[in-house]
Amino acid sequence: MAGGSGNKIDDAVNTWIAICDEVAVPLQGQLYTMICARAENFAELFYDMILQDNQAAKFLTQVQVQQRLHASMVEWLKGVFKVSQPDEIRNKVERQLHVGMVHARLQVPVSVVAKSAGKMKQVIARDLQGSDLQRNELAKAICLVYELFDHAIDIMNEAYIENFESQTRNDESYRRFAVGQNIVAERERLRACLLGWERSFLLRANQPENCCEIQKIGASEFGLWFRHKAMTLFKNATEIQEITQLISKIDDDLLLKVQDRSGDVSKMVNEIDETVAGIMFMFSSMFDRFLEVENGRDDLTHLLNRRFLPSVLSREISMSIKTGTRFAIMLIDLDHFKQVNDTWGHSIGDTVLKKAADIIRNSLRIGDFVFRYGGEEIMVVLVEVNQEIAMNVAENLRSKFEAFDFSVNGNEITNLTVSVGIALHEGHPDYERLINAADDAMYHAKKNGRNQCVLAKTD
Ligand code: GH3
Ligand code: MG
Ligand code: MG
Repeated sequence: MAGGSGNKIDDAVNTWIAICDEVAVPLQGQLYTMICARAENFAELFYDMILQDNQAAKFLTQVQVQQRLHASMVEWLKGVFKVSQPDEIRNKVERQLHVGMVHARLQVPVSVVAKSAGKMKQVIARDLQGSDLQRNELAKAICLVYELFDHAIDIMNEAYIENFESQTRNDESYRRFAVGQNIVAERERLRACLLGWERSFLLRANQPENCCEIQKIGASEFGLWFRHKAMTLFKNATEIQEITQLISKIDDDLLLKVQDRSGDVSKMVNEIDETVAGIMFMFSSMFDRFLEVENGRDDLTHLLNRRFLPSVLSREISMSIKTGTRFAIMLIDLDHFKQVNDTWGHSIGDTVLKKAADIIRNSLRIGDFVFRYGGEEIMVVLVEVNQEIAMNVAENLRSKFEAFDFSVNGNEITNLTVSVGIALHEGHPDYERLINAADDAMYHAKKNGRNQCVLAKTD
């Protein structure tokens, strides 16, 4: 539904209208007034329940956050029960979709929300029983509370599931990317291991007195890596199966024959040599493909792909909540970059963009993250910094750009500047707020005349 499937939204709107149509408008108004009057208490009760869940509590311990979320809960309740014209109902449905997405980002479990909403319905219903509504009206009002709650939660859940699934996919590819960070070094070490095994095999194969000491490939360091790591790293690679068979061909067949000295030993040795070459070939092509496809980097700038930004920010936010260290993000946008393309052509524009990415990457610590955020926009996550350090880093970058000579092949490009929006993480569990804050700050830097750094206002 969150993907914008019009029909599903229409269905949700129609159901909402049908639920409300069952109840006369004046009674809906009365219910709304009652809920508004007690909304603060209901919200308090809701968060008491939600905080009892460990997984959700992990994100919601911040007093500041509780206060903010408390206010949004009150708003949510009022929004759901406000008497509305049919054309306003669509906004209500979209609001539920939004809440579902936020829950997915915060990883608040669906079951926790559903359980708490269930309790909340009961509390409101009990509250209504103490009102002076007539029996008939009371029944209708309680039905309305239950049905609207259920419907709103259904809409949320659908958005939640869609978002959660795509986020999980990104987390998974990020894990693979992180494991793959040292993959070049790992590939070289593994090649050496495999060749080392072969050398020691050849040394012993021709000496009958030593050939029973030959270690199986499966027991070598390569075999160990293959069993434990390759299976997770290259889960779906077709080569895994083939390498498994080749290892078994050596360990369970050829090697035994060499040790028995039963057949033509030199023929067996040659066959082992060829099989090892086969393993080497397959394992190399598996690695190469992994490096190409899974390196998670943008082709032009070699910066991180922005699809990993949510995974990185979620991780940084939970670390920050756990350890108390703070981080910041910087949104860097090249000023008047379109002019570079218009004046010098797209290909020179590309070269300039690459240089810009290099300057940024080389000005930061290895622990910071640099993403290609948009065409000529770069997002940086500065880990473990305070406001002063973050501002210094930004200002340092800004002045580097101002002074840098970007000229390509004699084409003089000397006045390329950047506008930077900086936002410090202030404890809110939703990373979208941080991104929006940096975006606003960057926009202000543009509006104030570009070539400057602006710190986002925090509320
Ligand atoms: P502003 O100072 O307001 O940011 O001006 P601008 O021209 O940089 O901004 P605008 O958003 O109007 O244009 C961005 C330009 O960046 C448009 C596009 O041609 C260029 N661009 C985006 N991605 C690439 C790329 O990969 N290669 C090249 N050569 N140009 C790119
Ligand atoms: Mg831009
Ligand atoms: Mg720009």
